[in-house]
Amino acid sequence: MTTLLIKNGHVIDPANGIDDVHDILVADGKIQKVEAGLNDTADEVIDASGLTVTPGLIDMQVHFREPGREDRETLETGSWAALAGGVTSAVAMPNLKPVADNQTVIEFIIKRSNELDLINIYPTGSITTGQEGATLSEINELKTSGAIAITDDGVDVQDEGILRRAFEYSKTCDILLMSHCETNTLTEDGVMHEGWVSTQLGLAGTPAASEDLAVQKNILLAEMCGGRLHLLHNSTSGAVDAIRRAKQAGKATITAEVSVQHFALTDEECKGYNTNAKMYPPLRSQDHVDAIIAAIKDDTIDAFTTDHAPHIEPDKLQPFDKAAFGSTGLQTSFAVMNTYLVKPGHISLSKGISKMSAEPAKILGIDKGTLSVGADADIAIFDINKDWVPSNENRLSKGKNCIFNGKTLTGQAQYTIVGGRVKFKQGQIVAS
Ligand SMILES: [Zn+2]
Repeated sequence: MTTLLIKNGHVIDPANGIDDVHDILVADGKIQKVEAGLNDTADEVIDASGLTVTPGLIDMQVHFREPGREDRETLETGSWAALAGGVTSAVAMPNLKPVADNQTVIEFIIKRSNELDLINIYPTGSITTGQEGATLSEINELKTSGAIAITDDGVDVQDEGILRRAFEYSKTCDILLMSHCETNTLTEDGVMHEGWVSTQLGLAGTPAASEDLAVQKNILLAEMCGGRLHLLHNSTSGAVDAIRRAKQAGKATITAEVSVQHFALTDEECKGYNTNAKMYPPLRSQDHVDAIIAAIKDDTIDAFTTDHAPHIEPDKLQPFDKAAFGSTGLQTSFAVMNTYLVKPGHISLSKGISKMSAEPAKILGIDKGTLSVGADADIAIFDINKDWVPSNENRLSKGKNCIFNGKTLTGQAQYTIVGGRVKFKQGQIVAS
């Protein structure tokens, strides 16, 4: 039996209401005790004095690119980036080559992540075959082969009839449906948020209405058909207003997330034609960011994600309107949350951690995200006061495209523990 003792850390475990200095004893991959002043001996002892100990973070939306685009990221490099950010579980999007619309791709991802034995990776299957929006995937086959949810993320299912059937099947198969909300006829050639800044820069914009309309469509169909709807990467005031109303009405099971860049930054980042600021949904104007923060405070938004989207350099070293969409984020998500929400006093650290651990676990229906006795010992240990500057030099992802490059962030993972084993210490990978 291997044992690990984490001493004197400030333990924040929102699911159990713990926010105090405690020790944690881990044995055989499970949490055995969470108490002050433990005197147990252990094979390994971590002195967490001055550090903050939390459940390992759960990221519900990442793009790991394997199979198909291993030049951008692999399940291995993506896992390293996750570990460096205190993330112990990640939900992998299906926009791969081939698309995860069948049993073989789902089983490959599960097998490869088991071989790697770094973090917990949960694959999703696509709603439609090839993510082409025309024919439903074999949703029951996806579910039985291990997909945790269905989504066409990267694109939206435009046809309401197809989406209706998808909700009906998702209900029958009891699988979460995650929607990327975008109305193609409004997005057209848009490369950033449509507004004053896009006009100044002379770039084609994507109006907020593209997202608002798709969010409302998804809510209406979820209310009509049942099933569980999770709305990915919300970025507009219209989206969160609609979600708030739908939650109050209570006619469907609806949850929602925001990717951390969308509460932190605005479309001003696109000035200078910085292609790392190009992403979908686009960084919005300040009024939308304010509405998103209000929706975080009143829990209209349940969870924070990264939408981690690695690219090779040539795909970003392009004119803005030609560059690829997306930013990496796994290594910076905790720091962004801490810097832009906790430090300015918008929310407590406990609430922020909850939206990155206990809440995503609830939405996904997985037994993770807490430090309860008997739970899997997935644990992150942060220095919440550590200032650091993300750069291509200190990034473990293959993708060097990060919108937070060069910005000072506060808070950094010092240790990341998965299944009771230390996989990462700040500055090194310890894949034991
Ligand atoms: Zn998306």
